[in-house]
Amino acid sequence: MIRFDLHNHTFYSHGANSVADMYKAALAKGLSVFGFSEHSPRPERYTYPTEYRARLNAHLADYVREVQELQKNQGPCRVLFGMEIDWFEDDQDFVRKAATQFPFDYLLGSTHFLGTWGFDAGPEPWEAMDENARFAAYTAYFTTWKKMLATGLFNIASHPDLIKIFTRDSFHLWIVREESQRLVRDALEVLKAMDMAMEISSAGLRKPCREIYPCPMIMRLASEVDVRISFASDAHTDGDVAYAFPVLASYAKAFGFTRASYFADRRWHSEEF
Ligand SMILES: [Zn+2]
Ligand SMILES: [Zn+2]
Repeated sequence: MIRFDLHNHTFYSHGANSVADMYKAALAKGLSVFGFSEHSPRPERYTYPTEYRARLNAHLADYVREVQELQKNQGPCRVLFGMEIDWFEDDQDFVRKAATQFPFDYLLGSTHFLGTWGFDAGPEPWEAMDENARFAAYTAYFTTWKKMLATGLFNIASHPDLIKIFTRDSFHLWIVREESQRLVRDALEVLKAMDMAMEISSAGLRKPCREIYPCPMIMRLASEVDVRISFASDAHTDGDVAYAFPVLASYAKAFGFTRASYFADRRWHSEEF
C-alpha cells in the first residue's frame, strides 16, 4: 500500500479546499505522510488564461503558517511543508528565490511553461498544431525538463510527461522514436545524479490524456536507469487525495519498482509499497 501523497494543492491557488480539509482527507485515507505542495508565485509575464496569481500572492503567508501549524500536531499522519516550484528557463533567479524563500521540507520541480506558454492550460493551441509542431514541443519540453533537473534545486520531478496532456496519441508516436528515448533517458540520468525522485502521478488519469504520468515507455526507461520513485495524486480537491493509489502501485510494480520515497529531514526515506 502506498502510504504517502506528496503533491497536493489548496484553495490558496486553484484548488477547492483548505489546508485543514486536505489534511482531514489524508487522515481518512490512512496516509502516514502527507505533503503540501502549493504552487509557487510566477512573474507577470507567465500568465494562464484562468489566473490565480492574485489569490496565491495574497495568501502565501497563510499557506505557510497553516501548514507549519499542522506540523506541530503529532498526529498519525506526518505533515511535510513543500512547494511545487515552476521552472522558468529564462527567469532562473526568480526560480532560485522561490525555492529558498521558506524552510521547505522538500520541493517539487515542475515544467508547465515553454518560454512563456503555459502549455497545460487548454487544448486549443495543441489542436492548431500539426504533428511536426507537436513533436518539436515534446522535444523542447524534455530539453527544458533536463535543464530544470540539472539545477539540483528540487527533490522530486513532478508529472514527468505533462506535455502529453492534450495530445497523448501524438506523444506516443514521438516517444517510440530512438532520439526521443535518448533525450528522456539522458534527463533521467541527470535526475538520478541529482539525487532526485521521479513522481508517478495519478493526475493524468483525471486529465484529457487519461494516462498516468509518466507513460509506460518512460517507466521502462526509469526502471533501466534505476531512479528513485515517489507517488502523488496532485490533488486539487479533498476527494482527489491518494486518488487511484492501488492503480499506481500495480503500475509501478509491473516495471519492477518495489520501494517509494519521500524527502524529509534533509534525506530520503523509502518504504516498500
Ligand atoms: Zn503541476
Ligand atoms: Zn500540482
